[in-house]
Amino acid sequence: MDEKPFRATQLARWIYRAAETDLDQMRDLPATLRKMLADYTVNPLQITTRLSSSDGVEKLLVHSGDEQVFECVLLPYAKRISCCLSTQLGCPMGCTFCATGLGGFDRNLGPGEIVGQYLLLQGFVNEHSDRPDLRAGRIGHVVFMGMGEPLLNYDNLLASLRLLHDEVGLSYRHMTVSTVGLVPQIRDLAKSGLPIHLALSLHSPIDEVRSRLMPVNNRWPVAEVLDAMKSYQRTTGRKITIEYLLIDGVNDTIEQARLLARLVKGVPHVVNLIPFNYVDTEQGFRRPTRENMRAFRRELEARGVNVTERVERGHDIAAACGQLAGRHEGRFARRRVSVALPVSG
Ligand code: SAH
Ligand code: SF4
Repeated sequence: MDEKPFRATQLARWIYRAAETDLDQMRDLPATLRKMLADYTVNPLQITTRLSSSDGVEKLLVHSGDEQVFECVLLPYAKRISCCLSTQLGCPMGCTFCATGLGGFDRNLGPGEIVGQYLLLQGFVNEHSDRPDLRAGRIGHVVFMGMGEPLLNYDNLLASLRLLHDEVGLSYRHMTVSTVGLVPQIRDLAKSGLPIHLALSLHSPIDEVRSRLMPVNNRWPVAEVLDAMKSYQRTTGRKITIEYLLIDGVNDTIEQARLLARLVKGVPHVVNLIPFNYVDTEQGFRRPTRENMRAFRRELEARGVNVTERVERGHDIAAACGQLAGRHEGRFARRRVSVALPVSG
């Protein structure tokens, strides 16, 4: 547009730092430029539904014109605000316990659609700055634990991480990417040198059990994926997070707690225990009992494992992975697709 470079800086500040979408509010831009920019869309996303949980969690169902909905979640904590973003429309990994996986896969989300979720949520925070739990004013933490497998959308994920760092101004240390365990991409991510947190969804230390839960394990079994995580740890110096979803009678046995402890021995780590969030599955998976969860945790701790338990939030609005978009019906429903793509690499 033959504009001076500092105009781009001003515009980027409005879009990324202020989360402003209304060009008329960008007062330091000349009216002529604002008029030219009116042909473009600032944020590609539109909100179809907002759900508020009694614990302050907000969930947005969004789409970018094709009416296929995906979701992002705002998570206020005592001293900080975090959010959970989606990276794909659906997911092709086919994990048997996951509502997103059961709904199939449509497409990758672009960087504008990924960062756009952050900006919509930040816009919500700006509009509700009087809420005590949003006093921090700014979403300082981002987790990639919404719909989709982030490392299958590698280039767009990296572009998004860089935008969140360079333009929005977040620390890489406050970004967490959760993966099902794609070994080549884990190694690439280590080489990229971005000091983000990486979390592996392990869910069982035993190959037969893990393969039953996560087809990806047939391609990269436990030993291989742990090896990649360990070298990620050595290269980046960051603790690794192991996510462990507990399903009644499947992976909550004391034997698996022992094997898990052995796997993480000597590696700086955190094991995050997550009780299965009910999804109607073919296998009839159920939540573990409180006693089994406690015994599993105790066994890990007795063996020196650093354990945290995921505090469940937004239960009343089904804020967990893919649950709501999967259930949503009507015009803005996710169209069900039946093919699960083969895992390449
Ligand atoms: N695809 C990535 C990130 C998105 S899923 C991954 O799988 O890691 C984020 C987390 O939610 C993963 O640890 C996943 O295993 C977990 N999850 C999926 N379905 C769940 C359910 N029904 N209950 C509890 N956690 C679930
Ligand atoms: Fe995809 Fe993660 Fe769900 Fe598995 S758990 S199907 S990788 S979103």
